[in-house]
Amino acid sequence: MSSFSILITAGPTREKIDPVRFISNYSTGTFGYEIAREAVRRRMRVTLVSGPVALEAPQGARVIRVESASQMRSAVMREAKKADCVIMAAAVCDWRPERVSAAKIKKSGRKLNLKLAQNPDILAELGANKKAILVGFALETENLDKNAAKKLKEKNLDIIVANRLNRKANIFGRNSLDILLMDRAGGRLSFRNKGKNELAKIILDKALNFAI
Ligand code: C5P
Repeated sequence: MSSFSILITAGPTREKIDPVRFISNYSTGTFGYEIAREAVRRRMRVTLVSGPVALEAPQGARVIRVESASQMRSAVMREAKKADCVIMAAAVCDWRPERVSAAKIKKSGRKLNLKLAQNPDILAELGANKKAILVGFALETENLDKNAAKKLKEKNLDIIVANRLNRKANIFGRNSLDILLMDRAGGRLSFRNKGKNELAKIILDKALNFAI
C-alpha cells in the first residue's frame, strides 16, 4: 500500500468578521489527526489539510495549514487530484460573514447585525465529480440515521461516519465516541465508547474495501 495516497482534513475553519474577530466551532481536530497518524503507520502517502488546532503535526504527514473554508476548499481541490481517498473530518463552517470589515468594528451602543453567506460544500463538490474514495462525517443532534443516510447519498460518498451530539456529554476533544458507520453498499456498523485510534483503524480498513 506504499503508493496509496490519502488526503485528510481536520479541525475547524475560522471565518473572519474583522481583523481581530471570527466565527468558528468547537472542533479540536483530534479525530482527523488520529486518522492521519494511523494512515502514516500504514505507510500511506498522507496529506493533512488542517484548520487552526492546538495539536502536534503527525510525523510523516505533509501538513497544509489553512484558516477559512475558502482556503480549505482551494487546498482540497488542488490536493484531491492526487488522492486515492479523501477523508473530510474537518468541521467546515457552513457560513461566513458576508462582508469582512477591513478595520476593527467599533462598539456603537447599538445591535450589530451580522449577515452570513453560505460556504461552498467541499465534500459535495468532490462527490459531484468523484475521482477518489470519499469519506464524510456527520455530526447530528437529532435523526442521526436519517440525516447520515441522506448525506451519504446526496454527497455521493462511500462511507459516512455519524456521530451524535449529546447535549449532556461534550464530545469535542473526547477520545472515545459512539459512532455509526454507513457505507454506500448498505453496510451499517455501530460502535459504543470506542477510542478514536480504534475508530481510525476501522475507518481506514473500510475505506480500503472501496479501493478500485
Ligand atoms: O452537511 P454537513 O456539514 O453536516 O456535512 C458534514 C460533512 O461535510 C463533513 O465531512 C464535512 O467535512 C463536510 N463539509 C464540507 N464543506 C462544508 C460543510 C461540510 O466539506 N461547507
